[in-house]
Amino acid sequence: MTQPPNDPQRMVTPKAREEDQIAEKSLRPKRLEEYIGQEKVVANLKIAIAAAKQRGDPLDHTLFYGPPGLGKTTISVILANEMGVNIKITSGPAIERAGDLAAILTNLKKDDLLFIDEVHRLNRAVEEVLYPALEDFALDIIVGKGPSARNLRLKLPRFTVVGATTRLALLTSPLRDRFGSVHRLEFYTHEAMTDIVQRSAAILKSPIDDDAAVELARRARGTPRVVNRLLKRVRDFALVMADNHINLEVARAALASLEIDDLGLDENDRRVLRMIIDTFDGGPVGLSTLAAATAEEIDAIEDVYEPYLLQLGFIQRTPRGRIATRRAYEHLKVPYNDRTSPSPQPDLQQTLWTE
Ligand code: ADP
Repeated sequence: MTQPPNDPQRMVTPKAREEDQIAEKSLRPKRLEEYIGQEKVVANLKIAIAAAKQRGDPLDHTLFYGPPGLGKTTISVILANEMGVNIKITSGPAIERAGDLAAILTNLKKDDLLFIDEVHRLNRAVEEVLYPALEDFALDIIVGKGPSARNLRLKLPRFTVVGATTRLALLTSPLRDRFGSVHRLEFYTHEAMTDIVQRSAAILKSPIDDDAAVELARRARGTPRVVNRLLKRVRDFALVMADNHINLEVARAALASLEIDDLGLDENDRRVLRMIIDTFDGGPVGLSTLAAATAEEIDAIEDVYEPYLLQLGFIQRTPRGRIATRRAYEHLKVPYNDRTSPSPQPDLQQTLWTE
């Protein structure tokens, strides 16, 4: 059965669902040596940690960016563990007023790590408070009102802010510039994903065959959160079909029942692709037009659908909008017509050019 757009029950959404939160606690790696993949980032962090420890300083403010579910929170918690410091976890939308941030900052102890998820969603007034805190470990407060108002600068202990964002482009440049190290998390390779499945299966005490692990890894969009969720569903099938043992047949049956195809696309991804191909003649189609046509949020298209479809080379982003590539046609088994000059439908011209 086709799921409605924006369905929070969607199996392959990389955004966290309620059920994930309990499972993620036990499956989340706690130390750098357990963190699979992202070798470049890990190598850089190892050096940063060793250097900070040698100097006796807290880590530089650090920013992680990349699509949801790739391990930004996980690696931030690991940083605190490796440094042997406390971590406070908050998020951009949770800090509503400048005063909320001031309260958080004044409660930080020396060397603490403050993790701010969705840091691109901090509002301007809050950001203004964060700048001096990041740069000078200082909190500027105004005491009094009117002509007698004075600016008071409170010294804060040295601490580390770790920010995470799915949308680097939405970060203001003054904020981005204040992070000393910036790391991009990539979709995981099939090999790394296979290791993650095997590690998670071992923690969940679910025996799994190698070929079944590879099959799950291949179809989970390079995203650890998705593969862990698929694994849990497959375990149910294994319990009923195969005496709790996950073999290839069980994995395939579970994936088929979830309508997840060979590349990890579900019905919603295919619907977005089909919309570009059928309704917009392969594109280009502007983002907001596509969102309106598919009844999805613009954010969902950009955060959830697009990164993986781009990674697969199924769509291209051009200044005039999104285009479906030959590969997308082939995957959906739609005949591809070579068009030298793509011609958007005339009544959509206006929308397309203004985006
Ligand atoms: P993000 O903050 O980027 O949305 P999370 O850090 O919450 O993603 O990761 C989601 C889940 O994926 C975690 O609970 C963890 O179980 C798993 N995970 C993420 N990165 C890794 C990794 N490198 N190795 C093993 N498991 C991982």
